[in-house]
Amino acid sequence: MGHLYPAEMSLYGDRGNVLALIRRLQWRGMAVEVVPIERDTLVDWQTIDLLFMGGGEDSHQVRIADDFRRRAEAIVPRLRRGLPMLAICGAYQLLGQEYVTADGRRLSGVGFLDVHTEAASDRRQIGNVVAEIEAMDITPKTLVGFENHGGRTFLGPGAIPLASVSKGSGNNGTDCTEGAVRNHVIGTYLHGSLLPKNPHLADRLLEWTLAYKAGECRLEPLADDWEYRAHQDVVARYGRVRGRQ
Ligand code: GLN
Repeated sequence: MGHLYPAEMSLYGDRGNVLALIRRLQWRGMAVEVVPIERDTLVDWQTIDLLFMGGGEDSHQVRIADDFRRRAEAIVPRLRRGLPMLAICGAYQLLGQEYVTADGRRLSGVGFLDVHTEAASDRRQIGNVVAEIEAMDITPKTLVGFENHGGRTFLGPGAIPLASVSKGSGNNGTDCTEGAVRNHVIGTYLHGSLLPKNPHLADRLLEWTLAYKAGECRLEPLADDWEYRAHQDVVARYGRVRGRQ
């Protein structure tokens, strides 16, 4: 697994997602190596079968944006061929066409997702999120998590929303969409508690990973009582998923 810019792009417990993926593989007796990819790290892309990149403040996004665009030549063709990736918040924004920062700087993204983002001049979107997954056939359909972003992301015609929010703001606070999906790439505003509290999504990423690496894949189910208790607790507190309004 490649972990892009762990030093610069890691907010609100984002590393918890990496830990969840590692543990879920280890619990099934599978070994996993996490390769930290900082600016200028040399990468053997043949060894990478899953990519993770977390969120970052505007100033951190500015620092890694050039390096990420340079790496797009290696990364984007692989994403097109099914390399799975989870990109959170600032990473999600840079997988899109462009992010205009709070001080008006235009950061070109790598353009894999047909989304663009502008920092809003009013309040940040902060808090718990409950959503219904739309982009894939998965059980349960609910997704829970925590968002904290100033950017408002708008989906172009080529983008498929990950989910529809019933609690929280999601992409932009107006159209009820949350995140975007293309091939096996998930962009989302939900941070570090995403995979620990949504084991079904964690396993979907792992299934994609093993399929990318080795073809066919079946994952043994795990006893996820605690994970689903945490998941249900958020749903119970913040209301039932109602779907798009
Ligand atoms: N700097 C971006 C924003 O505020 C991303 C923040 C984040 O990754 N949490 O929208």
